[in-house]
Amino acid sequence: MSATVTKQDSTLAAIEAALPIEPQTYIIGDRPTGLIVVDVVNCFCTIGYVFAPQQPDAQISTMVSETNRLAQSFVAKGLPIMVFLDTHQPGKPEPPYPTHCEKGSGEEKLVTELEWLENHPLATLVEKDCINGFIGAIDIDTGRNLLLEWISDRKLEALVVVGICTDICVMDLVTTMLSVRNHALSPTLKDIVVYAKGCATHNITAEMALQQGLPKTAIHPQKIAHHIGLYTMTERGAIIADTIKF
Ligand SMILES: [Zn+2]
Repeated sequence: MSATVTKQDSTLAAIEAALPIEPQTYIIGDRPTGLIVVDVVNCFCTIGYVFAPQQPDAQISTMVSETNRLAQSFVAKGLPIMVFLDTHQPGKPEPPYPTHCEKGSGEEKLVTELEWLENHPLATLVEKDCINGFIGAIDIDTGRNLLLEWISDRKLEALVVVGICTDICVMDLVTTMLSVRNHALSPTLKDIVVYAKGCATHNITAEMALQQGLPKTAIHPQKIAHHIGLYTMTERGAIIADTIKF
């Protein structure tokens, strides 16, 4: 086990050197800014749930506490929050994943620390049944995009994004929003910021994949996958922040 950890750490160090991310302090100032919280639900974060760790996980618990801290700061400043909740109709799969976050199961609910957002007037909750929140925010019946409307109604100039998983749902949303900005679908939008400590991803070691009968492509070393997610977002133009100041 310790040999595996050491090997993972040295691989991580090599990847961090080869693919640097240069985190910075992001100052919100008087810029209209919205916080986007991605999928901080029981299924992915609360110990014992299907896609959550089975024992305490430092990266995930830091993500939850930093998300909560940032959300408290946003509402204290009167700034809006959009909360994405991975939610699936019971029996309707999301390939290639096993059943998860079925509506009514409790898996799709915000973690205990963030339950206060459920009824907060500054929070807009959006259920989504796919990885990418931009796509999930499209109302199939009307074609309206709830995320674009949320941005344009508030003339937001910056988005700060947190949540799980860094390299999956956070990354797909962020890279899409960079195209949204550059295509001027949201003409006020300037900065897409990812708060690194407010993001986390899951961990599947080679041993776990073998034990669970998963394919090799399911192997997902947490720290490496988190870093590559951050790198991919910043090479596309996202700002990676280690500190958010108001
Ligand atoms: Zn899902």
